[in-house]
Amino acid sequence: MATRRSSAPPQADAGRRSVTVEGLHKTYGSRRGPVEAVRDVDFDTRDGEFVSLVGPSGCGKSTILHIVAGLIPYDTGTVDVGGEPARPGRREVGIMLQKPVLLPWRSVQDNVLLPAEIYRLDDGASRNRAQELLEMVGLQGFEDKHAWELSGGMQQRASLARTLLPDPSILLMDEPFAALDEFTRERLNAELARLHETLSRSVLYVTHNIPEAVFLSDRIVVLKARPGEVLEVVDVDLPRPRTLDMITHPRAVELSAHIRGLLGQTERVEAA
Ligand code: ADP
Ligand code: MG
Repeated sequence: MATRRSSAPPQADAGRRSVTVEGLHKTYGSRRGPVEAVRDVDFDTRDGEFVSLVGPSGCGKSTILHIVAGLIPYDTGTVDVGGEPARPGRREVGIMLQKPVLLPWRSVQDNVLLPAEIYRLDDGASRNRAQELLEMVGLQGFEDKHAWELSGGMQQRASLARTLLPDPSILLMDEPFAALDEFTRERLNAELARLHETLSRSVLYVTHNIPEAVFLSDRIVVLKARPGEVLEVVDVDLPRPRTLDMITHPRAVELSAHIRGLLGQTERVEAA
């Protein structure tokens, strides 16, 4: 069912890798001494593939995502993103974090247009694209509102539209919907699945929510905690398009139980 080195799903371009991480190690220095966060982690994402990093809190998911985004340094290993070593500020790499970080004094539309200023994109084309994206994420009619006038879910929709504005080929997402209520999170996950299926961008997604990872992903990199190490890479052989009723699909339930079992085993070893 699951293999450490798994084959590409049929919808992905098996020839090209968007993210390759090999032999990654990261230790933080802290006042109480070194904290080994990530140990010898290997995984990749292929073009158009949705890959999740799953594991308990503190297993190094955010550390890995921030390293792939080029936001923090690492000790040893190779991190290749779209054919180049990881570095920040690349138009082809979109990043979305747990907090929406919209600028409060700007309208929704002007927040979505922020990357057009950063990357000096054509103004007219960017405005058209912003409008398309706002419709795609269900925010038409809210263009002129300010961030503080929106609910948490709507702020994350605006944030998603902003991330997509420069048309990135790789999306890096760190628990983007974790702070939202369950109903909103499910709806946004269904929309993210639909967007991924329409746009076929590579996504590297971080979550501690196992059913969410199963619902969204083509493959799941299961990490154990202290230090973060890959336990297994699980193929998610659920059909696409994904619809919300698939959360209770027998295969989805089976895969979730398998991942829970993997993580449970390491907890029992630690407790012994
Ligand atoms: P996750 O996202 O899976 O919850 P993190 O990547 O945030 O995990 O953290 C992994 C480990 O590294 C944890 O033990 C955490 O306490 C530690 N850590 C994270 N950031 C720092 C930091 N800036 N300094 C020291 N330790 C850190
Ligand atoms: Mg985290």
